[in-house]
Amino acid sequence: MTEIQIAHSVTPKHIREIAATLAIPEEKLEYYGNDKAKLPLDLIDEDKIKENNLILVTAITPTPPGEGKTTTSIGLVDALNLLNKKATVVIREPSLGPVFGIKGGAAGGGWSQVIPMVDINLHFTGDFHAIEKANNLLSALIENNIQSKTRNLGIDPRSVIWKRCMDMNDRGLRNIIAALGGKAGGVPRETGFNITAASEIMAILCLASDLEDLKERCGNIYVGDTWEGKPIFAKDLNAEGAMAVLLKDAIKPNLVQTLEGNPAIIHGGPFANIAQGTNSIVATKMGMSLSDYTITEAGFGSDLGAEKFLNIKCRAAGISPKTIVVVATIRALKYHGGKSLKQITQEDVPALINGLPNLDGHIASLKSFGIPIVVSINTFKSDTAAEIRVVKDHCKTLGIPVALSYGWEKGGKGCLDLAEKVVEAANSCTKQFSATYDLEDPVYVKLNKICQTIYGGDKVILSDLATSQLGKYETMGYGNFPVCMAKTEKSFSDDQKRLGRPEHFNIHIREFEIATGAGFIIPIAGNMLRMPGLPGTPAAERITIDKDGVIEGLF
Ligand code: ADP
Ligand code: MG
Repeated sequence: MTEIQIAHSVTPKHIREIAATLAIPEEKLEYYGNDKAKLPLDLIDEDKIKENNLILVTAITPTPPGEGKTTTSIGLVDALNLLNKKATVVIREPSLGPVFGIKGGAAGGGWSQVIPMVDINLHFTGDFHAIEKANNLLSALIENNIQSKTRNLGIDPRSVIWKRCMDMNDRGLRNIIAALGGKAGGVPRETGFNITAASEIMAILCLASDLEDLKERCGNIYVGDTWEGKPIFAKDLNAEGAMAVLLKDAIKPNLVQTLEGNPAIIHGGPFANIAQGTNSIVATKMGMSLSDYTITEAGFGSDLGAEKFLNIKCRAAGISPKTIVVVATIRALKYHGGKSLKQITQEDVPALINGLPNLDGHIASLKSFGIPIVVSINTFKSDTAAEIRVVKDHCKTLGIPVALSYGWEKGGKGCLDLAEKVVEAANSCTKQFSATYDLEDPVYVKLNKICQTIYGGDKVILSDLATSQLGKYETMGYGNFPVCMAKTEKSFSDDQKRLGRPEHFNIHIREFEIATGAGFIIPIAGNMLRMPGLPGTPAAERITIDKDGVIEGLF
């Protein structure tokens, strides 16, 4: 069966029933149809959060199709519930870009999925649309201010860094000339679009503690400078109130369910290479308020996902995971051991052994946080007994608990081994995570600490442009921000071809961006696209609907 056939083979329970398992009073539910509801933020309970077992699911350096973090997170929550633990999975909302591009849906896979799968992968509860509108309202206000004779703040149109956004992979919008059409059309200038998931509004929504904080962060967005070089913020354009109005529902986490009828909260979807890559703080706190175990995922490998999850999100939210699950696949380890994507389904123990240093690298960097680690082998049909034994024995030598997971094939009962090991690890956790850097460290020191502790690299090298931008941002008073590293997900290094566990490399920062509303500084290593393009044969060409409304091609 395809993913969508599996998803449709289960009739979702009414969302009221899922909410009841979390003891949410019915009058608190804001229904979006029968199988989705928004949850008001007053359900967040800081006392319960303190007692909760937060479990982070991360992975080794991924191959392009993904290693199964979402699938494992969902399988794990179903397994914990089978063990009578009250558990909720909290994950990101998919972006339409990847859905119609290369990756397909992002609602798990096989028998570990969240439903209603089609809604979740498409418009869901409209959060992405609201984010897009808030983003583009600010663009419209900037354009209008440049045009206005009476309200003009003297913005130098060439300095405006704020871009429009849209949730689609459309490379044609990456760089555009706006405001054409003579005097009435504004002042022509070069600008562009970001994909919504890469917009600062998405990052803000995911870091905001409540609506007030969201509004304030929107006001703090830096949009550009005046002709005299004075920075202009969204609040100078009186934009934040209307932006917050557009986001009033989007800030509320969405409750849905897994195929096995367990609670899933899906909220926010920042990209992991350019932004923090994990669902909203309010969604994580919601899950932690309503259950005893909260399973969450952070994008790509641990070098990007876990690092930002801990140093940015957990630090801001004042939360700390009790266990970190590292998802590894035998296929990806063979890829790191030198096999091509086409060859990784054939048994190859020597290549697998060659690839193990990648897993070691992730374990080494995660150990720096001081939180118990469990390795989860996401098993594929092509894995052989000999290969599985190699990885299990290797973890045993490292002293790291390892579980075999069959969530994709069997759902919750395929992840019982993992669930038991996670419960044991979480029980053994006695302290909060240790951050990689202090906020007071100079930015350059923060970068080097990440480079050395997390990536296993030598040092960070700034381009001339990056050095001057960093000087400017530090002078503006943003030196105490955490850093949100923008780096390839395909390697520990900034060179995507260096697989495995590269050694003796430097990280080259080409430029810095700043997100003054979200509250982080973004060092950009290499070329990071904030507006992707579609691949040669986009998934969109296979997606269709028949006269009865049956959808095909979403996976
Ligand atoms: P990630 O969250 O790490 O990006 P996903 O959980 O979204 O990865 O999985 C990526 C893709 O791989 C999905 O299409 C999923 O259905 C598929 N997949 C995951 N685990 C397995 C497995 N064990 N066997 C077959 N396909 C799998
Ligand atoms: Mg995922």
